[in-house]
Amino acid sequence: MLSLPNGTADEPNIRRNAELIAAMFRRRGLTVRLIEAEGSPPAVLAEQSVPGAKTTIALYAHYDGQPVSRENWTHDPWQPILLNASMENRGQPATLEALPATGDGEWRIYARSASDDKAPIMAMAAALDALRAAGIPAAANLKLFFEGEEEAGSPHLARILAAEPGLLRADLWLLCDGPVHSTRRPQVFFGPAASPVSSSRSTAPCGPFTAGTTGTGRPTPL
Ligand SMILES: [Zn+2]
Repeated sequence: MLSLPNGTADEPNIRRNAELIAAMFRRRGLTVRLIEAEGSPPAVLAEQSVPGAKTTIALYAHYDGQPVSRENWTHDPWQPILLNASMENRGQPATLEALPATGDGEWRIYARSASDDKAPIMAMAAALDALRAAGIPAAANLKLFFEGEEEAGSPHLARILAAEPGLLRADLWLLCDGPVHSTRRPQVFFGPAASPVSSSRSTAPCGPFTAGTTGTGRPTPL
């Protein structure tokens, strides 16, 4: 997946990314559609309906990547390399076979979108595999939505949603497009980034008041 170029304007390769993701989840038994508005890259919707389930969980990730400035890269951004530590910590090339069985959270894959935002796509596929391997049945319906133009500001997303109201209706949304915490531990934010869900307004006198009849009952931001 990381070897497929994914600049938002690179139409043929963007489509290849979408088709690869569609195939990944079809292989895992999900019902998959590519959804397009005129001129948009395909969004991928993979669904799993569970008979009797009353809850629907939706997960979001985007498969397009930020534009590449080749001079800022030590290697081809679409030739993934695996290092046994970060570049800052002088990581050395390694192979997956050498990855310790217990996992080492400091190994790194370097490629465009290795984290933002193709990692969650692989994590979702791995999570489905792990649930199945452990024999844990799905208790909720699942909608996986993968967008191909997030880094361009999602110019067609509103049209895609308007064409099919209810398409992405769910009881819980997990937007998988955020950084790890600085302590290196996974984190969950409640509420999407950059989308305020509340606002507040405080008022105060614009001059001093004494206590007593004139001051008592005046609004105070405290
Ligand atoms: Zn992102």
